[in-house]
Amino acid sequence: MSAAAGAAAADAAVDTKRDLKVLQSGRPVPGYSNPPELMEAHLKRTGGHPYFRFPPEPNGFLHIGHAKSMNLNFGSALAHDGKCYLRYDDTNPEAEEQVYIDAIQEMVAWMGWKPDWITFSSDYFDQLHEFAIQLIKNGKAYVDHSTQQQLKEQRELRVNSPWRDRAVAENLLLFEHMRQGRYAEGEATLRVKADMQHDNPNMRDFIAYRVKYVAHPHIKDKWCIYPSYDYTHCLIDALEDVDYSLCTLEFETRRESYFWLLEQLNLYRPHVWEFSRLNVTGTLLSKRKINVLVKKGIVRGFNDPRLMTLAGMRRRGYTPKAINKFCDLIGITRSMNVIQNAMLENSLREDLDERCERRMIIPDPIKVVVDNWQGEKEVECANHPRFPELGSRKLKFTNIFYIDRSDFHTEDDNPKFYGLAPGPRAVGLKYSGNIVCKSFEADKNGRPFLIHVDIDFERTTKPKTNITWVSEADSVPVEFRLYSALLKDDRAAIEPNFLEFIDENSETIVQGYAERSVDALKPFESVQAERFGYFVVDLDTVPGHVVMNRVLGLREDKEKVVPAGNSRESKKASKKSEKQAAK
Ligand code: ATP
Ligand code: MG
Repeated sequence: MSAAAGAAAADAAVDTKRDLKVLQSGRPVPGYSNPPELMEAHLKRTGGHPYFRFPPEPNGFLHIGHAKSMNLNFGSALAHDGKCYLRYDDTNPEAEEQVYIDAIQEMVAWMGWKPDWITFSSDYFDQLHEFAIQLIKNGKAYVDHSTQQQLKEQRELRVNSPWRDRAVAENLLLFEHMRQGRYAEGEATLRVKADMQHDNPNMRDFIAYRVKYVAHPHIKDKWCIYPSYDYTHCLIDALEDVDYSLCTLEFETRRESYFWLLEQLNLYRPHVWEFSRLNVTGTLLSKRKINVLVKKGIVRGFNDPRLMTLAGMRRRGYTPKAINKFCDLIGITRSMNVIQNAMLENSLREDLDERCERRMIIPDPIKVVVDNWQGEKEVECANHPRFPELGSRKLKFTNIFYIDRSDFHTEDDNPKFYGLAPGPRAVGLKYSGNIVCKSFEADKNGRPFLIHVDIDFERTTKPKTNITWVSEADSVPVEFRLYSALLKDDRAAIEPNFLEFIDENSETIVQGYAERSVDALKPFESVQAERFGYFVVDLDTVPGHVVMNRVLGLREDKEKVVPAGNSRESKKASKKSEKQAAK
């Protein structure tokens, strides 16, 4: 949680003159202050505990940006003995669906947050309707018949609507007609009568209600008029006694109308503070754009491991702990920012290094047969190099096993390559002996498919590297899905033709092997494949068919599977991650 939010939460109970202060963020506007009797009543209802809300619209799936907002709102409530609502801001039934409502709740819980209340803006529609009648009676709202275009022009040119000065009785009657469904969509709206000359365009008689013949996912077809965001948000913040209405910066221009409406209805006024939206390189966060990718089948659903939806991140191997840690790290500010994906990955890497047991996994296998020995040996491997309490496991080493194709060269012609190649040079096998390549067999295209080796269990020479292996007799086949950034270019975040910037090769599928113990892992469980990076079991796993996603490499920039026996690099990488974890 940010220091600003913390300080704000702490003074929630006592500050009744906050409009006199220059707030740390944003600007106070007229109507901002609470008359003492409203503040008193508010404090009586809340007992002085600061109230927050996380208000997603159920029109898409939650993403990492929402994680930041949740971290701020639920986190602040937790840190300051407050309370936090999960409030579905559901005023646009066309875009909203029950699947989103359910998925949001699941992800809030997965992130570890326990809302004190789960509410829906639509649960307050009766009350909001009464407020509208009150506004009409007070001469502060009118039924309007301007077309969308006319409305736009009036607001741009500061020209009154011809219906602005209708009599109260007529407005009451016509608003009731709107409610009864006597108008087609677009024929009538209820507009507030604020200030058509105001410098803030948002104050120029914004729409409070529009006619929509759309069933609502939560309250079904009870209403054919729906309140607008501007009308709804502030009223519900007030009705729910929210102390801190924290939103992203694009809402800053809405402050005037927010407080104007509360003032008209003499309702309690929350603090309103804005913070910048989180953007991350390499991926799209707009719910609308994510929905397009999902509907067009460009990704494997809203939980595709390349998306930064929270469901996608879970499938990619992220834990709520790593995500919240990242949110703490970036903090809350008002400056526009795009965070490098590498920073998010570093939070993840630290988390993975600590919790992941090591396993031997061969993503791109080539078969090896030992010619000078036959049989079976049992070898014991530690599950984690630094945490002996995580125990060990026994693996079978047999005379037929797999190594990774990247650890084999058909000629020993590169002094920087320490992997296996024909010739007298010995290469170590982890937890086993040294091998020497005697020969190899290749198909008609020259692609090797079998390597013949001799083994020396005594390790009479000291090899420059130890490569990993998986025994044929003690392995399971695995489908590996290797991911890179979804976007070729970050312009996708701002360009309307964003589909042009999607990298179609951001998913590669390979068939490989893993030691048998991997079979026991469940979806979302991650391991460190020694030397090759982190892998997580995918949802698509069924008995007899294991699917694993590569979470990320052992170190930054290691996007692809570690190339050709690059032992020095992989050693450096594991040393670095051990150092990081030790910090
Ligand atoms: P999107 O543009 O992705 O659809 P939104 O703003 O429409 O996002 P809401 O469902 O209205 O999404 O968001 C719920 C809360 O999460 C709001 O308070 C919003 O300000 C906040 N939020 C949404 N996106 C981000 C983001 N990228 N960074 C920080 N907070 C965000
Ligand atoms: Mg929205």
